[in-house]
Amino acid sequence: MKGFKTDMEKDIIRQFCDIAGTDNVETDAPMNRYTTFRTGGPADCMVSPGTIEQIRQLLKICRENKIKYFVMGNGSNVIVRDSGYRGLIIRINKNFSGIRLEGEMITAQAGMMLSKVAAAASTAGLTGMEFASGIPGTLGGALGMNAGAYGGEMSQIVEWVKVMDQNGDLRTLSREELEYEYRNSRILKENYIALEAGIRLEKGDPDRIKQTTEELGNCRREKQPLEYPSAGSTFKRPAGSFAGKLIMDAGLAGRRVGDAQVSEKHCGFIINRGNATSGDILALMQEVKDIVYKKTGISLESEVKILD
Ligand SMILES: Cc1cc2nc3c(=O)[nH]c(=O)nc-3n(C[C@H](O)[C@H](O)[C@H](O)COP(=O)(O)OP(=O)(O)OC[C@H]3O[C@@H](n4cnc5c(N)ncnc54)[C@H](O)[C@@H]3O)c2cc1C
Repeated sequence: MKGFKTDMEKDIIRQFCDIAGTDNVETDAPMNRYTTFRTGGPADCMVSPGTIEQIRQLLKICRENKIKYFVMGNGSNVIVRDSGYRGLIIRINKNFSGIRLEGEMITAQAGMMLSKVAAAASTAGLTGMEFASGIPGTLGGALGMNAGAYGGEMSQIVEWVKVMDQNGDLRTLSREELEYEYRNSRILKENYIALEAGIRLEKGDPDRIKQTTEELGNCRREKQPLEYPSAGSTFKRPAGSFAGKLIMDAGLAGRRVGDAQVSEKHCGFIINRGNATSGDILALMQEVKDIVYKKTGISLESEVKILD
């Protein structure tokens, strides 16, 4: 499908509006506004559903009309090409973000920002989620990516995740069934949509929880170039090494393509100095990969998801 332009396709947009409400449907959605890299061309259409049934109906229309779709949370780990995305972005965000606390268990919907789930845990005196407070994604993105930092990761605290498969069927996967690995999971591998998760934490000392959260936040601000748009670590950590160190040792700190730059503060980050395009970022990523491979024989793998 090449853009939603013909009458038939306009009819599809009308159906999206009927499902999710006109306010939650955007055509030619400028993806530089919806990704933390602040780059990328328009997506044909973006819908932010508010219920499981709406998501199911969106998938049904995509299936019946052979429309490509991509599930996005906060766009903090994606690159949309400058030519944009020919298909539907299903954005699971604040429209889909209820939360419930019962004892040591938090049940939250996937569109909630991870930092907000962590803040709710802290307020309730629950420990185990401090690591997640500075990760600028949604719970759904973190559940798929097995997001982690400072020794913690989602796989340690997730008890179950309710997912929808591509046919719209629901299932609840236990932690074991989620097959968590470093920055990967069955959710991503099988293109499931994460809808809701049960997170098990432990009672802790509220002052200590706040202090740890603050310390980790300070550590991020000190070490990471948070003053520039980025997608966090650009590459996965290779076994037995650190991408940032390999890139630094290869002499690539500060290397630029256009306004995309290997951060001098943290070589693991590629940053947008202002007017970078996705093309600049992708070209720089390729250069970094090639040079690191030539110098070390280690093949860096992108952690950032590239929409095709
Ligand atoms: C400044 C900065 C710091 C960061 N620090 C960290 C860090 O410390 N640790 C870390 O792990 N990451 C870090 N990241 C990367 C990013 O924030 C995480 O990967 C985050 O979990 C992505 O969530 P998101 O909602 O933005 O997902 P998106 O970027 O929108 O999507 C990422 C992937 O998740 C999938 N996805 C999103 N929502 C769902 C859903 N509901 N169901 C199924 N799949 C879904 C998408 O299809 C895509 O494959 C950082 C990023 C930035 C910009």
